[in-house]
Amino acid sequence: MSHAQHGSHAGAQVRLGCIADDFTGATDLANNLVRAGMRVVQVIGVPSQPLAVAADAVVVALKSRTVPAPEAVAQSLAALHWLRAQGAGQIYFKYCSTFDSTAQGNIGPVAEALLDALADVPGGDFTIATPAFPDNQRTVFKGHLFVGDMLLNESGMQHHPLTPMQDANLVRVLQAQCQRQVGLIDYQVVAQGEAAIRARIAALRAQGVGLAVVDAISNADLLRLGPALKDLPLVTAGSGVAIGLPANFGITPSDQASALPAPSGWQAVVSGSCSQATNRQVAAFIQSGRPALALDPLHIAARQAAGADVVADAMAWAEPLLGQGPVLIYSSADPAAVKAVQGQLGVAAAGALVETTLAAISRALVQRGVRQLVVAGGETSGACVQALGIRQMQIGPQIDPGVPWCFAQTDAAPAAGLHLALKSGNFGTDDFFIKALARLA
Ligand code: ADP
Repeated sequence: MSHAQHGSHAGAQVRLGCIADDFTGATDLANNLVRAGMRVVQVIGVPSQPLAVAADAVVVALKSRTVPAPEAVAQSLAALHWLRAQGAGQIYFKYCSTFDSTAQGNIGPVAEALLDALADVPGGDFTIATPAFPDNQRTVFKGHLFVGDMLLNESGMQHHPLTPMQDANLVRVLQAQCQRQVGLIDYQVVAQGEAAIRARIAALRAQGVGLAVVDAISNADLLRLGPALKDLPLVTAGSGVAIGLPANFGITPSDQASALPAPSGWQAVVSGSCSQATNRQVAAFIQSGRPALALDPLHIAARQAAGADVVADAMAWAEPLLGQGPVLIYSSADPAAVKAVQGQLGVAAAGALVETTLAAISRALVQRGVRQLVVAGGETSGACVQALGIRQMQIGPQIDPGVPWCFAQTDAAPAAGLHLALKSGNFGTDDFFIKALARLA
């Protein structure tokens, strides 16, 4: 990748090195760090080269949440070694705010492997664990995780297809995944602030506890927790704890942190998400009178079977329109339509067909001069980022909670750079697409 060589700030000190167990979770964490004043770069997987731009924090986006635990450990350790080589003094292992994990992990095994690897660093015998994210209604009290007003195991998460969460007691959940003893820093302690939290950590250490779940029910709790974590080489948490860490490095909120290069080129939206919020956003875009091209997976399959090039079809539609304003290309559909397609093609095959097609369309759009691209859908975003050959993204201003504008180099438009907004399913207001593109201008 050419951009790895021409960065002018290579070697700048990275303060916080983050390891995220999935792609949109990485962006969520990066967004919180940027809002607290850090300049943040997100990298896709563990890079093979040093970081090419200046950043206070780097988030390595892995896909390690549900892979077998030994694989998650190996990926996370590779990320740790790369982050330490970039100078990161503190490591942040980021997982989901609903503590998504199986009976085997991977939160416990990864946290312990990171502790093992940091054993030679002062303070590397202990870490905390808390998915608390009050802005998103995730709170922890007496070690129990609440989603809104519900205990985790009554929140719907008990039915998750990959990581069913059937116990809200995080001390118990984490202990089942760990060799080390797991303890609790409860609300009474957190409410008293830094000194009390530090004293509790010292007491737990003396008892041989290696990891402690931390209660937090508000951002004020997280901001009280932050200074007490200053000397820990490893922090494990959801994205919430991030709001209290930048101050430890003397960093305060500033617009500078989210500054991106000036936008250029044409605008487009690609949507492969069929979530309710996305369907409303697609409808709002169409209602605004802007051009939109619907892709029907069955039609794609038939055209491809006949030897046609569906990407060329889409470009023939888009090219004359791009100069006039944003265009939307979407496969988003309501649940009944999705079911019908899945019934004919199979769930996995339908998903893969649409993802591959939209990813190729994204690349073709950028090759034709689109430089501001909104992508809707978590899996769809992953496919598009991969097709665009993107290895790292600079994180910019927030559009809606959890969704920032990003800037990346792509081999689909060498030397130009691309502004990119990756929106996971249910994020964003109904006017998200127009708002995002207007915000950039
Ligand atoms: P979200 O973030 O809303 O979950 P994703 O992109 O992660 O969105 O997942 C949507 C999945 O549905 C993708 O695999 C996508 O390819 C697939 N898909 C998109 N449109 C359709 C459709 N019309 N019929 C069937 N599957 C679709």
